[in-house]
Amino acid sequence: MAVQRTGTVVGEALVAPGLMRFRLMPENGNPFAGYEAGQHIALHREDCKLTRKLGTGQDGKPVYEPECDPWGRQTVGPITCSYSIASSPADTAEHGWLEFLVGCEHGVYGLPGRLNEALFGMVEESSCEVRYHDSISGAFTLAERTDSATSVLLVGTGTGVAPFVSMIRQLHAAADGSDERRYTLIHASRTQPELAYDGDLFEIEGAGRFDFTYVPTVSRPSQSKDLDPRIGQGRASNLVRHIYGLPTGEEEKLTRASNDVARVAASLAVERLVSPILPRHLSAAALRERVDPSATVLLACGNPASVADIKSTAARREIRFEQEEY
Ligand SMILES: Cc1cc2nc3c(=O)[nH]c(=O)nc-3n(C[C@H](O)[C@H](O)[C@H](O)COP(=O)(O)OP(=O)(O)OC[C@H]3O[C@@H](n4cnc5c(N)ncnc54)[C@H](O)[C@@H]3O)c2cc1C
Repeated sequence: MAVQRTGTVVGEALVAPGLMRFRLMPENGNPFAGYEAGQHIALHREDCKLTRKLGTGQDGKPVYEPECDPWGRQTVGPITCSYSIASSPADTAEHGWLEFLVGCEHGVYGLPGRLNEALFGMVEESSCEVRYHDSISGAFTLAERTDSATSVLLVGTGTGVAPFVSMIRQLHAAADGSDERRYTLIHASRTQPELAYDGDLFEIEGAGRFDFTYVPTVSRPSQSKDLDPRIGQGRASNLVRHIYGLPTGEEEKLTRASNDVARVAASLAVERLVSPILPRHLSAAALRERVDPSATVLLACGNPASVADIKSTAARREIRFEQEEY
C-alpha cells in the first residue's frame, strides 16, 4: 500500500472564482519522490463533506445528495483524488514544492466536489495540511506519448492544462538548444483570469529557449473587458477544428440535423456560438503548417466532451492522438 505523508500548503492563490493554484511542501525530511512532467499524485483530506447517490437523472447520470447523520448534519470523512502536477521537476528540485491547479465546480445539482471543496476551505486557523501518497505516477509524459513526432500539439481545457504547464516549464528549464521539435500549446478557459498560467507561458514563449508557440483562448470573451489581442476566442475543440479547416461542432450538428427538433436545438447552439478566432499574431495557415498531421502527435487533457471532439478531429485528419484520462 502507498505510504501516506502530510504536506503543508505554502502558496495559495485564488486565480479566479472557483480556481486555485497552490504549492505543497512535503513532510519534513521526506522530499517528494522524483517525477516526470505530466505525472500526477494522489491528494487526500479527512474533512470532506460526504455525499451519497440519490438516483439517476433524466440524462442517465447519477444524482448525489449530501449524506447526513441522524441529526441532519452533513457527514465528514476522507476522500482521495489524483491531481496532475503543474510544477516542473526542475521547480521541485530547486524549491521542494509541488504545484497544483484545482477547480471547484458546483455540478449540475449544485453540489461542490467533496475534496475540492475541502481544499478551497483550507485556512491557517484550521489546517493547511494535505495528505499525499508518497509515489508519483502516470504515463502521460512526453517520453511515453510522443515517440519520434517532430511536432507536439498540446491541447488543455480548464485545469487540464496542468500537465502541459509542467512539460513546458521543464522544457524551458532544461533547454540546451538540442531539441529540434516544435511544441504548440492551445489552452482554453472561460475567461482570461482562468487561463491561470498565461503570464508564465507568454514569458517562456518570449524567452525562446526552445521552439514553443502558446495559443490561449477564452470561450466567454464578452466577460473580459479589453481582451488581450494575444488571446484567441472560442472553445479549444473549435479552435483545433479551425486550424485543421473543419467547421465548428455546432455548425456541423446543424448541417447534419435530421429532424425539426434537432434543427431547432442546433440553430440555437449556432446562434450562441463563440466562433473560433486565433490570437491576432497567428494565422490558421501558419499554425496548420506548424502542426502538420503527418509530423504531429496531439496530446489532450481536460473536459471529456471537449477531448472527445478533439479526438474526432484528430481521427479525421489522421493525427496521432493521446489523452489523459481525467
Ligand atoms: C490523472 C488525473 C489528473 C487530474 N488532475 C486534476 C487537476 O490537475 N486539477 C483538478 O481540479 N482536477 C484534477 N483531476 C480530477 C480530480 O481527481 C477530482 O476528480 C476532481 O477534482 C473532483 O474531485 P472531488 O472529490 O472534489 O469531486 P467529487 O465529490 O468526486 O465530485 C465530482 C463529481 O462527481 C460526482 N459525485 C458527487 N458525489 C459523489 C460520490 N459520492 N461518488 C461519486 N461521484 C460523486 C458529482 O457529479 C460531481 O460533480 C484529475 C483526475 C485524474 C484522474
